[in-house]
Amino acid sequence: MIILVINCGSSSIKYQLLDMKNDEEYDLLAKGLVEKIGLPEGCLSHRPTGKDRYEVELPIPDHKVGIQLVLDALVDREHGVVDSFEDIQAVGHRVVQGAEYFSGSALVDDDVIRKIEACCDFAPLHNPANLLGIRAMQNVLPSVPQVVTFDTAFHQTMEPHAYMYALPYEYYEKYGIRRYGAHGTSHQYVSQRGAKLAGLDLNNSRIITCHIGNGSSITAVRNGKCIDTSMGFTPLEGMIMGTRCGNIDASIVPYLMKKENLTPDQITGILNKKSGFLGISGVSSDCRDMLALADKGDKKADTVLKKLINDVAKLVGGYVAEMNGVDLIVFTAGIGENNPRVRSWICEKFGYLGITIDPEANKNSGEETIISTPDSKVKVAMIPTNEELVIARDTMHIAASLKA
Ligand code: ADP
Repeated sequence: MIILVINCGSSSIKYQLLDMKNDEEYDLLAKGLVEKIGLPEGCLSHRPTGKDRYEVELPIPDHKVGIQLVLDALVDREHGVVDSFEDIQAVGHRVVQGAEYFSGSALVDDDVIRKIEACCDFAPLHNPANLLGIRAMQNVLPSVPQVVTFDTAFHQTMEPHAYMYALPYEYYEKYGIRRYGAHGTSHQYVSQRGAKLAGLDLNNSRIITCHIGNGSSITAVRNGKCIDTSMGFTPLEGMIMGTRCGNIDASIVPYLMKKENLTPDQITGILNKKSGFLGISGVSSDCRDMLALADKGDKKADTVLKKLINDVAKLVGGYVAEMNGVDLIVFTAGIGENNPRVRSWICEKFGYLGITIDPEANKNSGEETIISTPDSKVKVAMIPTNEELVIARDTMHIAASLKA
């Protein structure tokens, strides 16, 4: 089944066209990115498998035009990979926030749209953009089933003691203030792949997944289900990230607002966009820059890296306690997949768990690998994440059930 996976941001559209043979096997037909929607100089970068990359710069006023551009590229005689729009059998959309409405993927209908709209308050930058993508696609391909997959859905199995904040209960009831988590599709995928690679029975396992990228979160997965995760009401909670502060004393927020005369939007911007690696180092949100600077003796970059390692160690340690042990720790995302040094620094903190790392295996990037030694008490794996595959799989199942 040919499935188009769409990930809409406020000014961008990422896409992949996959030919799904079954849950595990698929061909990637094309992938690409539309950027700078709404700006004078938009661009499309289209990468068809087995053909030359195609790039074009032109104004892209809105998401509908962007989606049309993607579809035109997919069927283009020179750069296309399918003959006509009819070849696209279903579309899967990534949606950031599904709150308590969604614990799995769903076929788009009016009720689903209303619920995604209702979640916009919790993800004001993301959900409205996701909706734009869904509406634009409905407009252009009205008879093709549209499915939505939520970043929060995998975390809906958390129990109240994991998802509640110790705030007055009425705020949960009135405003839905609780922990929702994020990166759920990634945690779900890498925990399942990791269990397979490590020879574990997923339904009888304790796995901790470390998604460490520009945004980062750690999740405790017991018997295949999320029991706790480090991101919270929004993706701001948890560990230090590229530009997000992670956990801080909440009193800092009103204190800073008063001292610096900041509006709610300004403080939100500081915590989300000007903090983290960028905030402490003052120069970059990129982990590679932190490593290069620390190597040259930069104290702030060194603090960033040590805080990153410490934050991961504290979260993993907490989840080991929650699950009364751990069978497998998985690293994924930009930093987790690509940096052996960071992985080994983190794992040095896990000596008390009887973890030992195989330095040769740990050199690997980009390929699923067990990086612990055979006698390590807990297995450690590196699994490249593949959120698009999870979205395509769910979309395939939901679309196939319509035909049955
Ligand atoms: P996003 O959260 O935007 O999806 P990614 O998962 O792509 O981000 O992660 C981006 C981060 O991964 C950046 O901080 C980047 O520096 C880091 N990264 C990518 N490759 C490496 C590498 N080889 N070593 C260290 N960090 C890396």
